[in-house]
Amino acid sequence: MQKDISLKLTPSEAANSESIKTYIAQSLGVPVHSITGFYRSKESIDARSSKQVWINLSLKAFVDEPYIDRPLLNIHFRDVTNAPKNVIIVGAGPAGLFAALQLIELGIKPIILERGKDVRARRRDLAALNREGIVNPESNYCFGEGGAGTYSDGKLYTRSSKRGDINRILSILYQFGAEENVLYEAHPHIGTNKLPHIITAIRKQILDCGGVFLFEKKVSDFILENDKIKSVETADGNKFDADAVILATGHSARDIFELLYQKNILIEAKPFAIGVRIEHPQSLIDSIQYHCTVRDENLPPASYGLVEQVNERGVFSFCMCPGGIIAPAATSPGELVVNGWSPSKRNNPFANSGMVVQVALKDAIDYFKKKNPDVASFQDEKNPLLLMHFQSAIEQACFSAGGGKLVAPAQRMVDFTNNKTSSNLPSNSYLPGIHSTNLSEILPAFIHKSLQGGFKAFGKKMHGYLSNEAVAVATESRTSSPVRIPRNADTLAHPQIKNLFPCGEGAGYAGGIVSAAMDGEKCAQFCAHQLK
Ligand SMILES: Cc1cc2nc3c(=O)[nH]c(=O)nc-3n(C[C@H](O)[C@H](O)[C@H](O)COP(=O)(O)OP(=O)(O)OC[C@H]3O[C@@H](n4cnc5c(N)ncnc54)[C@H](O)[C@@H]3O)c2cc1C
Repeated sequence: MQKDISLKLTPSEAANSESIKTYIAQSLGVPVHSITGFYRSKESIDARSSKQVWINLSLKAFVDEPYIDRPLLNIHFRDVTNAPKNVIIVGAGPAGLFAALQLIELGIKPIILERGKDVRARRRDLAALNREGIVNPESNYCFGEGGAGTYSDGKLYTRSSKRGDINRILSILYQFGAEENVLYEAHPHIGTNKLPHIITAIRKQILDCGGVFLFEKKVSDFILENDKIKSVETADGNKFDADAVILATGHSARDIFELLYQKNILIEAKPFAIGVRIEHPQSLIDSIQYHCTVRDENLPPASYGLVEQVNERGVFSFCMCPGGIIAPAATSPGELVVNGWSPSKRNNPFANSGMVVQVALKDAIDYFKKKNPDVASFQDEKNPLLLMHFQSAIEQACFSAGGGKLVAPAQRMVDFTNNKTSSNLPSNSYLPGIHSTNLSEILPAFIHKSLQGGFKAFGKKMHGYLSNEAVAVATESRTSSPVRIPRNADTLAHPQIKNLFPCGEGAGYAGGIVSAAMDGEKCAQFCAHQLK
């Protein structure tokens, strides 16, 4: 017999298979020896009680019958070496890679053109970024094999259940090498150290099936004929003919947005969010969230999610990384962008999170009216690149304030709320270094004031969170794309260019690894339908 069981256990009980078996037997009223095995279908932490943290488990238990492991997806990746149709995928992030796998399942040959390098070569450029503050505009935390997803945190939680089948994406990641816990944890996480192996395994699958995967191929032009893309040109002078193009270039491909704009291909400004990254000692977050002085060894480093309306503007935490590192995520020299990642064990002594404020088109217009009153296009609300220019202007201001080499302007958290320059800064995880700055001198007033209000409110929600042990590092600006590339709802093709499928986070249809992957699959399905 197979039974679905729910249990509420202490962290140490939940970590011990024998004690779980005992509880299963108790709840079914059978002897322990009749439980032949079990697997976890869901696991979540409940830390609401100040007396005890609980682990909620949903289990599939096998009683008096042989144990069978959890069922896996049965995907048939076809040989597409001689497939009659081929599709160019621009960008090898999660959207592009999952689009490629889906095309292969559907019998279509993907040709992936990626501006950056493979995961291994990319690692060297990240080392230069962290140690010397040198940004390679083709190979960095956002560009290269696996896209922004490879050296990301690898949190796989998403609310985008309407966009596709989340469990299918998690199962595919598992089959390419993610740990089994991504299949059942409420907030699954892979970790930066494990992601490159998974991305490499996906590439191998694509190549084994006859797909094409080319690195250091930056797409620089689209050759159009009769409302279609006829071919794609790369910066090194190569040309690739296309039956269709899936454009999955991510939120940082500013040259692609510029190219579309210059070619009069419809794009729109898209509101996004900008702010700082806040870093606390992990032990402080653990003690707040788990109501303890020292974290139970069976509990993971604690996380949080915070949101508040301040003066009718959303302020919220973004991409929280327990046990993590703040990373320099700029894609061009002269910009300062921070983001966060953590290893699979989440064993660094810091907890960081983006703390960001919603930005609308009017904010950018007001900003440029003050700063660049003579540039008319910066005051034109029809300019689809306006929010992108705003994002870039803040990043450049932060770079200058840090004094170069990606040293980041920073301020202690309570000092930030009191508008006081910090006399010194706490130890922190950001390798290029931080420099004490009054962030009100760099961030536009609406962002600064909203963050001040947000921090005060968060300090009330999480007692101890508003602390001068924490440091605000500027700027967290690549939260989502500042541009949307429109597409028809019923075909997912661009309204003007019939065989162009804007895809993933850069096109404005995803935010995060799993939702980008789901969007990649969806675009591939619609593209395949068009090519039938
Ligand atoms: C440090 C960091 C941590 C993150 N942590 C998480 C997390 O924990 N969980 C989560 O869900 N998300 C996280 N993210 C965000 C996540 O990585 C992105 O949401 C996701 O990768 C978007 O997928 P995408 O395929 O749409 O675009 P991207 O991953 O941005 O991929 C776009 C690809 O296109 C390529 N490209 C761009 N222009 C061109 C061109 N002209 N020609 C050819 N190729 C081009 C780029 O090199 C890149 O490889 C993190 C991001 C960063 C930077």
